[in-house]
Amino acid sequence: MNSKFGLIYEGKAKKIFAHKDSDKVIIEFKDDATAFNALKKAKFEGKGELNCLISSKIFEFLIKNNIPTHFLELKNNNSMIAQKIKIIPLEVVLRNIAYGSLCKQTTIKPGSVLERPLIDIYLKNDNLNDPLLTKDRINLLKIIDNKELEFISGMTLRINKLLKKFFFNINLKLVDFKLEFGYNSKGEIVLGDEISPDNCRLWDLNQSNGTIVSLDKDRFRNDLGGFIEAYGEINKRINDFI
Ligand code: UDP
Repeated sequence: MNSKFGLIYEGKAKKIFAHKDSDKVIIEFKDDATAFNALKKAKFEGKGELNCLISSKIFEFLIKNNIPTHFLELKNNNSMIAQKIKIIPLEVVLRNIAYGSLCKQTTIKPGSVLERPLIDIYLKNDNLNDPLLTKDRINLLKIIDNKELEFISGMTLRINKLLKKFFFNINLKLVDFKLEFGYNSKGEIVLGDEISPDNCRLWDLNQSNGTIVSLDKDRFRNDLGGFIEAYGEINKRINDFI
């Protein structure tokens, strides 16, 4: 039986459908690419599949390493079955190397290796352009309490350690990434959304002269070309390694 009853939500890169089991959803990955809060848009055939396959493999790896995630199983190449979660409206960014907005907003030079990972938390709100929050602002907005904030930050640091190793094994440097969390039906906080080259900066380590070669959404953001090829390369390296 087709378990896609109805569309619950459509975002920039994914559609969420109801599942016959009310605790679950079907997440379909779209071929759309957006950047700069969707000011820049394009479609790349096969992107949805690649992000779905890459995310599934990474979620499986994290689950094996005791990270609670919403991922349950791959449904087909461009959709997965996940726990239904209530998304916490925060975008949790962890940075190992300074790049992107950190360098636009501060005097830190792009490419600087950070002494310790930096966690930047943004409000997930497109109308406000996802502003950077402070701990006090998170308290003020009552989005999560301090204990939950510590839990999420701790889990993000653990995920970073695991992902850094995972990507190093396939010759990629994990520069930074964005995570989203949510509450499942038991009220537990689990990792949601996706982990793919759409929300991770990944630099190719197969470069002898130290040039930065991005294999992630920066190829689209900065018109570097070879966008879908880069995503294909990540998927290939993961499959060759596993
Ligand atoms: N990121 C994301 N969604 C966003 C903003 C950022 O997935 O709405 C990811 C981005 O791909 C990068 C990391 O978070 O891996 C840090 O992004 P940054 O804050 O530097 O913003 P950007 O330079 O992408 O505007």
